[in-house]
Amino acid sequence: MSLLVVGSIGIDTVETPQTRRENQLGGSAVYFAFAASFYTRVQLVGVIGKDFPSVHRTLLESREIDLQGLEVADGKTFRWVGRYHENMIDRDTLEVDLNVFGSFDPKVPPAFRATPYLFLANGAPQVQRKVLDQLEARPKFVAMDTMDLWIETARADLKELLKRVDALVINDSEARMLTGRHELLRAGLDILDLGPKTAIVKKGEHGALVVSRHGHFAVPGFPLEEVVDPTGAGDTFAGGICGYLAQTGDVSADNLRRAVAHGAVVASYTVQDFSLEALKRIQRSDLDARFEMLLDLVRIPK
Ligand code: AMP
Repeated sequence: MSLLVVGSIGIDTVETPQTRRENQLGGSAVYFAFAASFYTRVQLVGVIGKDFPSVHRTLLESREIDLQGLEVADGKTFRWVGRYHENMIDRDTLEVDLNVFGSFDPKVPPAFRATPYLFLANGAPQVQRKVLDQLEARPKFVAMDTMDLWIETARADLKELLKRVDALVINDSEARMLTGRHELLRAGLDILDLGPKTAIVKKGEHGALVVSRHGHFAVPGFPLEEVVDPTGAGDTFAGGICGYLAQTGDVSADNLRRAVAHGAVVASYTVQDFSLEALKRIQRSDLDARFEMLLDLVRIPK
């Protein structure tokens, strides 16, 4: 089943304690779409400038990502520059040039308006809402991401939007900021009071805590000996989750557990190289093999 994503499409420059990589393909919607494309047909709504290298477009097309909703606007593509700390978790944003993304007015093509699965990747809540408003019917499953910037500057819009989604995928620090609660379970429960049926709280290399009224569960991060670049981990985690749900067409509580484990697996590949490099080298069978390893990792004999 098809899965629609809206979010940023950008050119990133990333500095880690070891190295610096300039002008790589990035953006929340790009990472999400690439990850989800291992599982299902992805439809992308976003904006790029005239400077967007055609090689990136070709890469997305090679994943059969439907680019009918990709607008090419006059101006430059969104750019982001980030620097990771020694711990490879915390990062500072050194520069953000919103460029054409700053005035993005998403237009959902008619062919996408009946999508059963929707992910609102990181972006202004007012813009995320415009996508939901253009759909013919409420999708079977709507998930969204957000960030500290919107929690601080657009809290009212964010709260309105949260009433209309099934799941919020959010970092631990942002869940704390949104709710004013330190304990993640408490923060997750407070998020449920804002509207979503499920709060998926990301804890970086430590995995994720999933909070819902039907019970909670935790998934570990897949252990790695080396992390090269954590950029896009959150978006590809969400892409694995939503991609798997859309592929299976099953949003039951048990299947959500499998989906979240797939999210953890895709994210673990993302961080093993810069940009989409590691994901470009793998196939669905690699994800399935690592999924089995993750199951084994958490197997506890009775
Ligand atoms: P993640 O590491 O999963 O949080 O996602 C990183 C991606 O988010 C990078 O590729 C950036 O281009 C993109 N990004 C950074 N800041 C923003 C922003 N304010 N709005 C939308 N996307 C952003």
